[in-house]
Amino acid sequence: MTHFDLIVVGAGILGTSHALQAARLGKKVLLLEKDNFPTNATVRNFGQVVPSGLSGRWHRYGQRSIELYKEIQAEYDISVRANGSVYVASDEPEWQLAHEAEELFRDKAYPAQLLSAEETLARHPYLKASYVKGSLFFPDDVSVEPDRLVHRLIQYIQQKYGVMYLPNTAVLDFQSGAEGVEVVTARREKFKGQQVVICNGSEFRLLFPDLFASSGLVVSKLQMLQTLPLPNVTLAGNILTGLTIRRYESFEECPSFAQLTTPTHYEELKKWGIHLLFKQAMDGSIIIGDSHEYAPADRTDELGFDVKEPINELILREAERIVEFPVRGIARAWAGYYAQHPDEILEREIAPGLHIITGIGGKGMTSSLGYAEEKVKEWF
Ligand SMILES: Cc1cc2nc3c(=O)[nH]c(=O)nc-3n(C[C@H](O)[C@H](O)[C@H](O)COP(=O)(O)OP(=O)(O)OC[C@H]3O[C@@H](n4cnc5c(N)ncnc54)[C@H](O)[C@@H]3O)c2cc1C
Repeated sequence: MTHFDLIVVGAGILGTSHALQAARLGKKVLLLEKDNFPTNATVRNFGQVVPSGLSGRWHRYGQRSIELYKEIQAEYDISVRANGSVYVASDEPEWQLAHEAEELFRDKAYPAQLLSAEETLARHPYLKASYVKGSLFFPDDVSVEPDRLVHRLIQYIQQKYGVMYLPNTAVLDFQSGAEGVEVVTARREKFKGQQVVICNGSEFRLLFPDLFASSGLVVSKLQMLQTLPLPNVTLAGNILTGLTIRRYESFEECPSFAQLTTPTHYEELKKWGIHLLFKQAMDGSIIIGDSHEYAPADRTDELGFDVKEPINELILREAERIVEFPVRGIARAWAGYYAQHPDEILEREIAPGLHIITGIGGKGMTSSLGYAEEKVKEWF
């Protein structure tokens, strides 16, 4: 039986980040993925790498992840673009939060710049003047291409560190013993790891279903839209808007957040957890989203596989309030699902050397690399 220092189950961004970090420490690593390639949250998202939206240790993991993304990009194209994020405020309370956040980020030494309505429109001429009150610009945020990043990262760790990657390999069982943990796949192959980490995303049926059912994990379903390529529109970086300012945890720390009330025109949008984000893909198309519906870990089927047209309509109507470019020429629409946990992430060591880490929520593309660096150092 082949022995490894670390076996990672699940090759989404969280699992791949653990594989990368252990490999950087010189460890022998095996990465196992049940599908032919990762097809879940990690490839269905915006690819906004935004420490600007996070607070506490997650903000720091985000900053560290950006350092690492850029370091790897300098050697191997993993689709990182360093072009910042802008949060566009549309009313007085959002503009007040932007001012307060700018002050908070000064203390965190993460550059943030307030832009007046005129400055915002000069830099982002596709925004509607009627929407823009001002904006907060974060030059250090980056973006990645979600349909490329994880594939390239897996190739990189195979080539650079000799990580062994086996797709189409579902893990169905474990045996824990004095010499480590034995991993059993659906083909009854066995591998032994000194440490094993399960980064199963929102897959709760194959392993430890009862543990996940009682863990407090919930799954969020998000609806996303992508326009046809718009060759005459250039969006610089990640575009986040007023509803995002009202939603992201970095703004929750602001003094006036507690007094925030919901204007009538936001009520229906908030009911579906909608906030408007825009991100231009490499082909010139624009990804627009998103909404949030929730179900507990043992009832995720109730979220359905369909894309609800009324939710798309709410997203597009709000988009039309914000941008001048045509948003109705939609090339594709999809739903993405991520797991989240009330304690920010689910971390359990269920037997010596056998860890479960999942439920990173909506912050996985931003913070997984930095988070995994810390975790892996605890084990080796
Ligand atoms: C629509 C959408 C937009 C988002 N936008 C952003 C964004 O802009 N920025 C950001 O930071 N985050 C964003 N997120 C969140 C981010 O995508 C997630 O936090 C992250 O992808 C979660 O990664 P993961 O590895 O935990 O899960 P997943 O991507 O679900 O990966 C888990 C993997 O484990 C595999 N697996 C499960 N069980 C087994 C088993 N038994 N054996 C083998 N393999 C197994 C699965 O097949 C899967 O490939 C978004 C998410 C969505 C859905």
